[in-house]
Amino acid sequence: MIDIQQIRKDFPILHRTVNGKLLVYFDNAATSQTPKQVIDVIVDYYSNYNANIHRGVHTLSQEATDKYEQARQKIQKHFNAAQAHEIIFTSGTTHGINLVAHGFSSILKKGDEVMVSALEHHSNIVPWQMLCEKTGAQLKVIPMNDEGELILSSFEELLSENTKLVFVNHISNALGTINPIEIIIEKAHAVGAAILIDGAQACPHLKADVQALDVDFYVTSAHKMCGPTGVGMLYGKEAWLQKLPPYQGGGEMIATVTFEKTTYADLPHKFEAGTPNICGGIAFGAAIDYMNSIGFDNIAAYEADLLEYATEKLLEIDGLKIYGTSKNKTSVISFNIEGIHPYDIGTIVDKLGIAVRTGHHCAQPIMDYYKIPGTVRASFAFYNTKAEIDILVEAVKRAKMMLS
Ligand SMILES: *Cc1c(COP(=O)(O)O)cnc(C)c1O
Repeated sequence: MIDIQQIRKDFPILHRTVNGKLLVYFDNAATSQTPKQVIDVIVDYYSNYNANIHRGVHTLSQEATDKYEQARQKIQKHFNAAQAHEIIFTSGTTHGINLVAHGFSSILKKGDEVMVSALEHHSNIVPWQMLCEKTGAQLKVIPMNDEGELILSSFEELLSENTKLVFVNHISNALGTINPIEIIIEKAHAVGAAILIDGAQACPHLKADVQALDVDFYVTSAHKMCGPTGVGMLYGKEAWLQKLPPYQGGGEMIATVTFEKTTYADLPHKFEAGTPNICGGIAFGAAIDYMNSIGFDNIAAYEADLLEYATEKLLEIDGLKIYGTSKNKTSVISFNIEGIHPYDIGTIVDKLGIAVRTGHHCAQPIMDYYKIPGTVRASFAFYNTKAEIDILVEAVKRAKMMLS
């Protein structure tokens, strides 16, 4: 069970005011808030052992290297990767996706097909479009239905021996739908395609087991799961990471360099050119520790309760429509009120201290599907409360009165 008052004490930001009201933070799908256990680790790093890693023999450098590599092991353990060197530190989900897309640009050829889903974040559409332009491969899209779910029968029809890569998010950031990735991975593998799962939206809500999933690549960002911005991870099966060429050239990623020839470092360093976000990586490890101390089963149960409560309360408002009504969804509610622009609702509720997101949520194809300019999106985390949801519901009612 979650002790919500105790948990809220861990998050300094939840005690500030916005426009004279106590902050209600419902933009967790864009970025999560940071507990003091993670902030302390960041302060400790810069106060006590800030140094560059992997090259120094001095004490500070060794301390920083040890902590950084320990963080990699925490991430490995959390996602149940077979080996630590299958975890590549990145600057975030977008970086991880681009790294893989770049790697495949030397593998794909004309006639090959790459498949994405209709539910993707722009970061999981644009790199593949660029990849297809470069290689002559064709981009196919797995369609969605009115509930905001992927249509699996269409997916199966689209699959063929030409399919080389499939990219799907684990959970849609715009709608909250949990995609049936176990089935998608299995079907992709059955035709010999590789598969990358974008886990940015899943990691704050559940624990993904990359070996049980048998996924080829899995990416996420620390800032969606109580960690800092600017750091994330790419998991790749060793065989794939060996096969893909390096993404960027520079220090850290080489074994030997002469002007005639450079040989690349072993994994994971082959993909980690330059000085990484050392502090961020260590804090990412601390964020994983923090979330595990709360417990993912507790988080899931608590958030499901919040979602049910908020859905019920919001639907009591006349003219309010929720987009994304799958039974399998996390604590995200995307909605509109008939005749009112989402931006106007967002502006009024902000005046009342509530942070929600308005717009297309980096998922324009979904908005096009519903033929809407965007939605208001309230996304809840384990540190939110029903009392905060009541405040949102009252604010939306007030906005509706003012705007209609
Ligand atoms: C946030 C998010 C991203 C992008 O993450 P960055 O940290 O901005 O790289 C990609 N996909 C999904 C599903 C997301 O929620």
